[in-house]
Amino acid sequence: MVSEREVAVIGAGIVGVSCALWLQRKGFRVTLIDRQEPGNGASYGNACTFATYATVPINSPSIFPRLPGLIFAKDSPLKIDWSYILQMTPWLLKFLSSCREARVSEIAQQLGKLMGEAEAAAAPLFADSGVRDLLSRRGCLYLYDTKASFDAAQKEIGLRLETGVKLEVLDAEEVRQMEPAISAEYYKGLYFPDAFQYLDPRAVVQKMVDHFVGIGGNFLKAEIQGLGRVGENHVELRSKGADFSFEQVVLSAGAWSKSFFGRGLEKLPLEAERGYHVLFKGQESLISRPVGWASGGFYMTPMNDGLRVAGTVELGSLRPKENQVNIDYLSRKAKGVMDGLEGEGDESWLGFRPTLPDALPVIGRSGNVPEVIFALGHQHVGMTLGGITGRLVSEIAGGQSTSLDVSPFSPSRF
Ligand SMILES: Cc1cc2nc3c(=O)[nH]c(=O)nc-3n(C[C@H](O)[C@H](O)[C@H](O)COP(=O)(O)OP(=O)(O)OC[C@H]3O[C@@H](n4cnc5c(N)ncnc54)[C@H](O)[C@@H]3O)c2cc1C
Repeated sequence: MVSEREVAVIGAGIVGVSCALWLQRKGFRVTLIDRQEPGNGASYGNACTFATYATVPINSPSIFPRLPGLIFAKDSPLKIDWSYILQMTPWLLKFLSSCREARVSEIAQQLGKLMGEAEAAAAPLFADSGVRDLLSRRGCLYLYDTKASFDAAQKEIGLRLETGVKLEVLDAEEVRQMEPAISAEYYKGLYFPDAFQYLDPRAVVQKMVDHFVGIGGNFLKAEIQGLGRVGENHVELRSKGADFSFEQVVLSAGAWSKSFFGRGLEKLPLEAERGYHVLFKGQESLISRPVGWASGGFYMTPMNDGLRVAGTVELGSLRPKENQVNIDYLSRKAKGVMDGLEGEGDESWLGFRPTLPDALPVIGRSGNVPEVIFALGHQHVGMTLGGITGRLVSEIAGGQSTSLDVSPFSPSRF
């Protein structure tokens, strides 16, 4: 027997914990479930930006001519795990069909709507959880090394402006004054004054979970192995040790959410974009805000425990084996860009961005099992969209009309 308004949230990354806290605010009794300690999935090792400027998807009409060069070049931030190519082909075809100019513009508008509410939806969760000391507000820089790369980005910059992003174009001297340690040649920079950063994203998620538990939430450490509808209004979650029953379930298990598809739930085309980081301990004071290097596909971010160089995209499986080529790439590139960066890096990490082929998340009820609400597929921007996703999920769970139109994020769009 379960009491009414009892909800389980699977996955304690930034998306799951934000859903749990918003559900709690709406009066639900919430159980947050993870097989590990909170914040150890993609929400741990990312580039740490709260990037409300990231309204333009990586889908782009210009990807077609650039793709072969990107995939086959030795020194590229994009890689394909060829052993996984057959499984990945349906996703790749859908990805390419979302690269038409008109579709990219629609996607950017929808991401823009989520981004427009992202900070307002995350702020109360951050305030309640007391994480202010783990955030830093100095904007973000994004650098273009050549005139050609800056010219090629004009469409993308136009789309950002159309979607309400505030940005300033800086010349090389202005960038130098902001970040003198960036020694490689660059042509122009974009400065996003409204962006901010996490100084330790895992600690932020952990503190959010601590707050959730402190005000009556239940955190359960368990690996959920199956999910099924039991009659109307009940979903059973199966784990090794025990089974649990809830009135509603939020599926926010990041890239691993796909292991739940197909057994009752619809099969969504979710795949992992593998990404890496290298940490240079104690070298965080070289820069004072996250700096993105456009042509290299990576960010350098000063954090509490060092300078994190994060990025690259490797299309592939959820296999936890690191590809040393990507780690060497990040370390070498960062050293080529920044004066005074020493060593090869003290720590490396591989993580899995949960990505749908149209770069939009899925936020909405399952068509097959309406007691299940999907909150997944936040690709490169989950650290930014956790709060707004949580707020929308809590409105959906409560049967309210949502504060934003969620139809573009419906699971039925595939
Ligand atoms: C290199 C890199 C850089 C990035 N940089 C940024 C950035 O600067 N800004 C930004 O906004 N985003 C960034 N991202 C994206 C962001 O990290 C992700 O979108 C976000 O963390 C996804 O959060 P999540 O909660 O959906 O998933 P996760 O954080 O992966 O959490 C999923 C959780 O589900 C749990 N789980 C899975 N299966 C089960 C199961 N069966 N039972 C119980 N628990 C389960 C896992 O243990 C995990 O804790 C970056 C990602 C990468 C890889």
